[in-house]
Amino acid sequence: MIKRLVLLLLGLLLLLALALVANTLRQGSRQLEVAPLPALAVDREAVVQTVAAAVRAKTVSGETPVPGVAAEFDALHALLRERFPRVFAGLEREVVGGHSLLFTWKGSDPARKPVALMAHQDVVPIAPGTEASWTQPPFAGVVEGGFVWGRGTLDDKSNLVTQLQALEMLLAAGVKPQRTVYFVFGHDEEIGGRQGVVQIVALLRERGVRLEWVLDEGLAVTEGVMPGISKPVALIGLAEKGSVSLRLAASAPPGHSSMPPGPGQGAIARLAAALVRLDAQPLPGGIQGAAAEMFEAIAPEMPFGPRLALSNLWLTRPLIERELSKGTATNAMLRTTTAMTMLSAGVKENVLPGRAEGVVNFRILPGDTIDSVQEQVRRIVADPGIEITKHGEGFEPSRLSTSHSDAFRLVERAVREVFPDAVVAPSLMLAASDARHFDGISDASWRFMPIRFDSEDLKRPHGTNERIAVDQLVAMVRFYHRLLTLAVQ
Ligand SMILES: [Zn+2]
Repeated sequence: MIKRLVLLLLGLLLLLALALVANTLRQGSRQLEVAPLPALAVDREAVVQTVAAAVRAKTVSGETPVPGVAAEFDALHALLRERFPRVFAGLEREVVGGHSLLFTWKGSDPARKPVALMAHQDVVPIAPGTEASWTQPPFAGVVEGGFVWGRGTLDDKSNLVTQLQALEMLLAAGVKPQRTVYFVFGHDEEIGGRQGVVQIVALLRERGVRLEWVLDEGLAVTEGVMPGISKPVALIGLAEKGSVSLRLAASAPPGHSSMPPGPGQGAIARLAAALVRLDAQPLPGGIQGAAAEMFEAIAPEMPFGPRLALSNLWLTRPLIERELSKGTATNAMLRTTTAMTMLSAGVKENVLPGRAEGVVNFRILPGDTIDSVQEQVRRIVADPGIEITKHGEGFEPSRLSTSHSDAFRLVERAVREVFPDAVVAPSLMLAASDARHFDGISDASWRFMPIRFDSEDLKRPHGTNERIAVDQLVAMVRFYHRLLTLAVQ
């Protein structure tokens, strides 16, 4: 009897193992097979010098307007006009909101939906006190050791310049587009885009323009960033997260510290208890949406162990979600994140404060909303004595573009042709970009820049020692040249 049970159990285990392996093998590579692209001659020195000169224009977006910045944008526009004469002569050009640029490359077939390439002209300031840590001064546009150094070389002037360079080359070759392509260069992306891309979108909407897709900055060709896979992974963002900050406040009668209230009664203690509850309970999440699509695409490219685990989520899901929740980046892909960022109470050591306040920033996963986050927070805090109000405006997450479309395949093809060693995967962008403003007038938005990033490089945008390799700039021109060629056919 026992023997029969053991045999039965072994049989079941064998069946399970077979099912797991079968599932794993059934999910073969999803990568597009492409033929190698003939090499495209790119004027390397011209691109390098243009990016370097663009860095010297200090087009800084600050929380308050930066004095003299208008002249810097004028200088940048003058540079672009000088370096890209065919673009300025051949395309319709509009200046919107002061310094944003909208170029229209008119297509011959009005039945084809237009597309847009985007890049922003502004950069973030240098964090005070970090200037001395730069190997090269941040606004000098130094070319040294195979790199162009400076603020904006990654975010986002390299995209701006290489898009225009690719377009200039296509114009020089006499290419006539079948469909219209817009080039959208905002000037205030780093402070929300309200003067720039928001106005450009309003203008296009007024004209009844409906786009098939837009491509903006965002994810990149990552190397050694994704755990469990040795190949480079080109991540194309299908969506970006939203953001809202909530202010939690507790009030209590002020008084002398010699006679404090009982446990949990003071304003600080009550707020602290609420914050501890919030900290201990992450908002619900899991492998879904863009994250699920990402794992579906990269799993078949992984070694057998992780591939088996990711191909059998019906069994391994809780385990994998728990593991992913441990890493800050992977956790942020699974859920709306909770980050405590500000805290204030009290003015004197011997006075009980009448009020204690904390601000918590939530980065909202597509699917959640500002309202639903607020509701969840109320539920977790579970204290009607804690006031919960919005701090600032916040913005909703973008919609999720589908990767099951010809439009996605087109971008994927260009990536595979120019970066043949890379695996392409849809993904979720954790930061914000101007692309979200297009949600209402385009069918899809892709967030991808053709730049290779290793884990060291991830610290450079908005950080110290931002720089880009000269070889990367050449690859960027090749990518945009190929993408535009495919798009306008
Ligand atoms: Zn940017």
